[in-house]
Amino acid sequence: MSLVTKLVCVNCSGEFAEGQAFTCPGCGMDEGILDVWFDLDRAARTLTRESLAKRPRAHWRYRELLPLDDTDHPVVTGVGWTPMIEVPRLAEALEIGRLRLKDEGRSGSGSFKDRASSIGVARAMQERATSVACASTGNAASSLAYCTAVAGLRAEIFVPHNVPEGKLAQLLAYGARVFRVGGSYAQAYDLCTRACDRFGWYNRNCAVNPYLVEGKKTGGLEVAEQCADDPPDWVVCSVGDGCSIAGVYKGLAQMEAIGIVAWRTRMLGVQAEGAAPIAAAWRTGEFVRSADGDTYADSINVPVPRNWNKALRAVRDSDGAYVTVTDAEIMAAVRLTGRLAGVFAEPAAAAAVAGIAAARRQGIVDNRSDVVAMITGNGLKDTTGALRAVPGPHDVPPDLDRVVHIVEHDAPCPPEDAG
Ligand SMILES: *Cc1c(COP(=O)(O)O)cnc(C)c1O
Repeated sequence: MSLVTKLVCVNCSGEFAEGQAFTCPGCGMDEGILDVWFDLDRAARTLTRESLAKRPRAHWRYRELLPLDDTDHPVVTGVGWTPMIEVPRLAEALEIGRLRLKDEGRSGSGSFKDRASSIGVARAMQERATSVACASTGNAASSLAYCTAVAGLRAEIFVPHNVPEGKLAQLLAYGARVFRVGGSYAQAYDLCTRACDRFGWYNRNCAVNPYLVEGKKTGGLEVAEQCADDPPDWVVCSVGDGCSIAGVYKGLAQMEAIGIVAWRTRMLGVQAEGAAPIAAAWRTGEFVRSADGDTYADSINVPVPRNWNKALRAVRDSDGAYVTVTDAEIMAAVRLTGRLAGVFAEPAAAAAVAGIAAARRQGIVDNRSDVVAMITGNGLKDTTGALRAVPGPHDVPPDLDRVVHIVEHDAPCPPEDAG
């Protein structure tokens, strides 16, 4: 038995029993996102610092707070308990007090999405599904393909035509069936939903599946546990659909609610300037769908986010803030994060670091702030994107004189400012 008590619509507060609905029928698929509630008093009885110390180093360690019946459900390995890396040189460049990176790029498929997909696959197996489908611009799909490959299920993937090659290669290598849709992401999404209805595939799409955010929540549970006695002032997350920041915040809040930590942090949400409807809603108080998105950070290029409501609430409830960053700032952050922290971040992940620089300029964080940034995806997933951000190599013949000339005349690595 899971400790799920009910599902609550974020729009109308209507309540549903576990298994009764994916989205609120009254509010419809766009607005009626459901939030999963747990019996936190019961969770607190067995989920303690002492019991955690003996559990496996994976996100399955938080089983009381996962929406799964079988309490011992490690069907997918290689997800969770990613490192929290202290990066003093990057903190110094950003002129903040302290910076830690939670490197989700080291997860099984190389992104934060594995947390959600692994829960989706576990739920699918509980429901005896053999195929799991999703529509995605990249990471959600490659992580689903990874998790189904590990668990022995089939993956049915709908991608838009402009999916980055690294992510496409990953999908095909994990053995997914890939439908590359000649149309927009919205059309790929719609096609996926209809195919799920037609074939009875389990639908991993984050917007309609309320259980996936519970997987992303484990990112916040881990930040709380890893920083238990050493809390940061801010946790930074890049924001596309809004599911990640909402999940991370929910995890932090639940760890406080069950008494494992006595603190909560402020959330800093970062959107790309070319696709920033949630940041705009935070400023103006009104959510407006954008016609289309335009940013180099493809994983957060989401003009019509479905989880905007939860994403706004996470920032409001935590007394946090939203900032936007330009593509040039994201590229600078790719370089800085690689060079000063040894972490190769994909553009959407580096956006979190760019967001810290923006927040510093705006006086939202100061030179004493202690910050944790979620590095949500690995740079190897999109090497074309990375190559646009970095200087080119020195092309030389196999001739030492040319090397000597370059070494003697090349400027040393420039002391780059934070953007
Ligand atoms: C999906 C994704 C995000 C944003 O998560 P949302 O839930 O869409 O807000 C950020 N970075 C990377 C690398 C992602 O894949």
